[in-house]
Amino acid sequence: MADVVVSDLTKSFDEGGASRDVLRGVSFEVRSGELVAIVGRSGSGKSTLLNLIAGIDRPSGGSVRIGGRDISALNERDRTLFRRASVGFVFQFFNLLPTLTVEENVRLPLELGPGSRGAGREPARKLLQAVGLGDRAHDFPDHLSGGEQQRVAIARALVHAPALVLADEPTGALDAENGGRILELLVSLARHGGTTVLLVTHSADVARAADRTLVVEAGGIARAPAPAYLDGRAPST
Ligand code: ADP
Ligand code: MG
Repeated sequence: MADVVVSDLTKSFDEGGASRDVLRGVSFEVRSGELVAIVGRSGSGKSTLLNLIAGIDRPSGGSVRIGGRDISALNERDRTLFRRASVGFVFQFFNLLPTLTVEENVRLPLELGPGSRGAGREPARKLLQAVGLGDRAHDFPDHLSGGEQQRVAIARALVHAPALVLADEPTGALDAENGGRILELLVSLARHGGTTVLLVTHSADVARAADRTLVVEAGGIARAPAPAYLDGRAPST
């Protein structure tokens, strides 16, 4: 069970001595098993928000609770352990390890603990099949297209069956067919597996498939969809 409660979350970045507020008091809740789309203009703070929820970055103020646990209050080590156990994160720019094969990249989340060598092999193969890359297991990431790398990153984020999946534009590099396949996979995890899914997207199809859409704008959250942000635009960076 991983409901997410974001309370009065703020994030400022230092820029040449001056501080700039990217998020100013953001609050919302996501229920366990819900699939929520996060949309907004490029630079509005979507990746920043996802990084804070994942505990990859620390808030300037406010808190994030996941499954009742205040992750903003955990120390670095406990946050890392919590993330490994409970969170699957799909990075906007994939972050695959270039010296590991596709399968080794996907197995990694299951093989970080002591005595777990080999534990990820079966689940990794299943997920690579599910994202349509069953025959690329032994290739290295730099031999893959951007879209293929993105699907490897998705397989890696899901391999340990996390209760919470955070995905930063997970279909941004994919064609319609593969984007649809990934969307189905995420929808099915939420509907049938009770997985909580928050995904940043520019795609109207993805936003439509979600239970709810949150719009990040002017440092806050609006609840209505904003069609002008969606589809046919270049993916944000
Ligand atoms: P989005 O994902 O919506 O396109 P981001 O969350 O990546 O937007 O960025 C929001 C704003 O915060 C941008 O203006 C960006 O330049 C700034 N920003 C993000 N990360 C950092 C950082 N590590 N240091 C300074 N500024 C940052
Ligand atoms: Mg972003």
